[in-house]
Amino acid sequence: MSEAKIRLYVEHPLGQGQSVVLSRDQAHYLFGVMRLALGAPVLLFNGVDGEWLAEVAEAGKRGGVLACVAARRPLVIPPDLWLMFAPIKKARTDFIVEKAAEMGVRRIVPVQTEFTNAGRVQRDRLQAHAVEAAEQCGGTFVPEVAEMVRLDRALADLGDRQVMFCDEAEVGGAPALPDVAGPWAVLIGPEGGFSDKERARLQSLDQAHAVALGPRILRADTAAVAALTVWQQRLGDW
Ligand code: SAH
Repeated sequence: MSEAKIRLYVEHPLGQGQSVVLSRDQAHYLFGVMRLALGAPVLLFNGVDGEWLAEVAEAGKRGGVLACVAARRPLVIPPDLWLMFAPIKKARTDFIVEKAAEMGVRRIVPVQTEFTNAGRVQRDRLQAHAVEAAEQCGGTFVPEVAEMVRLDRALADLGDRQVMFCDEAEVGGAPALPDVAGPWAVLIGPEGGFSDKERARLQSLDQAHAVALGPRILRADTAAVAALTVWQQRLGDW
């Protein structure tokens, strides 16, 4: 059996002898679009059991079955890092979710800030982007995309989580990310930035640490990737 080229996320237990029943969409993709035949290899992961090599055991137009053959890679869970960000335009929000999944975060939390002008976010669509990113980047874990919450609510629910508060008002200042172990969140504001009130609230929290991402103002999507890079390099699994 040649090595598999297709990686698929499934919501199904994986393990020796497991058969995975495919949904109609998955069957359409594997057999209609990718033209896989009986016995063809596919890599599977479910965010829990690591990556498994499977082969096509039954193939039909509307369904099919894959049979797990061998464990390929163990589950790798990213550090306990959340990305909290204010949603922006649709395509850029999709980009942020995709990049966060690639960069390695546990959870993605859209937050409503005073200057957030994106309407409702479609959680399911964003979750599908996170799944797709994990499929493509070889990840064995898929971060959960939470429902959008108001910033004050999100800050009240932080527990002992530290916050890397990316504050455009700090531009030119030194990025001061303290060496604190444990759970963290990166917080990115909307195109309009944070309000004075929000900034004051964040500054009053011992667990929030204002940092600058260099001497230039970045767009929110760039800022998200840059902040995750800095955090991963300093405190994460890079
Ligand atoms: N309209 C604002 C900029 C918002 S940029 C202004 O002109 O001041 C969107 C978000 O990206 C910010 O809220 C912040 O979280 C982050 N960001 C962008 N550039 C940054 C920088 N140089 N340092 C820290 N955070 C930055």
